[in-house]
Amino acid sequence: MTSQTLKNFLDENLEDLKGRGLYNVIDPLESPNGPIIKIDGRDLINLSSNNYLGLATDERLKKAAKQAIDQYGVGAGAVRTINGTLKIHEELEQKLAEFKHTEAAIAYQSGFNCNMAAISAVMDKEDAILSDELNHASIIDGCRLSRAKIIRYNHSDMDDLRAKAKEAKESGQYKKLMVITDGVFSMDGDVAKLPEIVEIAEEYDMMTYVDDAHGSGVLGKGAGTVKHFGLSEKVDFQIGTLSKAIGVVGGYVAGKQALIDWLKVRSRPFLFSTSLTPADVAASIEAIDILLNSTELQEKLWENSRYLKKGLKDLGFNIGNSETPITPCIIGEEKTTQDFSKRLNEEGVYAKSIVFPTVPRGTGRVRNMPTAAHTKEMLDQALATYEKVGKEMDVI
Ligand SMILES: *Cc1c(COP(=O)(O)O)cnc(C)c1O
Repeated sequence: MTSQTLKNFLDENLEDLKGRGLYNVIDPLESPNGPIIKIDGRDLINLSSNNYLGLATDERLKKAAKQAIDQYGVGAGAVRTINGTLKIHEELEQKLAEFKHTEAAIAYQSGFNCNMAAISAVMDKEDAILSDELNHASIIDGCRLSRAKIIRYNHSDMDDLRAKAKEAKESGQYKKLMVITDGVFSMDGDVAKLPEIVEIAEEYDMMTYVDDAHGSGVLGKGAGTVKHFGLSEKVDFQIGTLSKAIGVVGGYVAGKQALIDWLKVRSRPFLFSTSLTPADVAASIEAIDILLNSTELQEKLWENSRYLKKGLKDLGFNIGNSETPITPCIIGEEKTTQDFSKRLNEEGVYAKSIVFPTVPRGTGRVRNMPTAAHTKEMLDQALATYEKVGKEMDVI
């Protein structure tokens, strides 16, 4: 018998979410998550994946994954520290260090997991973390788990960061200080002001932690936001995910050898959760090899991004201040934004709406993620649909 308390809790809260239009219904795909996806038997132009470079369906990665399954099986069989470390896990970590221009790297089962792992392995309740208010949920949870004091600063506001860093340092209350930021912010596509963050960190003796989930494979000729600014020597923790541009699944920290050595003995998801599967590891190695040897996919990604952005702007849409391929189309009011996305879908374009509380009230947007795998024809068709729906709904 189910507990009455649980039943009451779920009934009340599910009802509440549905009543406020905040209950998210999931559309399962009947196809790979490529530039065209099939949902409910309909083909749609896909502008919602993080598969920036199209690697999730790349033949070279698929082949590498299949070979790894034949050689090692489907599971790693244990956590990394017992006997779940295969040769290819170490090979992946060497490649990641090379990719990120650091001494060493450690791989985790996801980017989310990685933030749970790394922050709490170094920070504790005698410390303080300065965290951008728009940081990703996994950073927020990782900070909470560490029990350090969390000091939020206004988004990319360097005066606020400096003032709060000064106050924290001069209070003498904390043993260690750390500043954490996303490299690229996922809702607006803006890039963190890393040169200033690093400078402030040096001034107030703070460790630096950059989660570059949306920047890796995209900026800095692929190596990410830190490399883009030439700061590979100055950022202590470079976090990345294998799940976005890399096209597979997993997360990692790249940094100095001593940091990685410490994480291997002290970060709990590494010690207590089974390691990445052989197929994931082999496909990720293949992806990084591709990125180390050519910038062709990045160039295609940026070309497509510029094309989509220009097209939307020329049509009269407000596309915000993105500096990366992430292209928000800001509609405004919550209900209109949701209706807009629904109409796009009916006309053959899959682009999700993002509204309050994920973004501030009145800034509802349809978020577009062009990829290297889109053709110009697909983007033209998406733009024609935007024009049609935009005029019909009086948005342009
Ligand atoms: C997507 C994302 C993550 C989570 O990565 P997964 O590999 O999907 O778990 C972590 N941090 C940031 C900033 C992200 O954008």
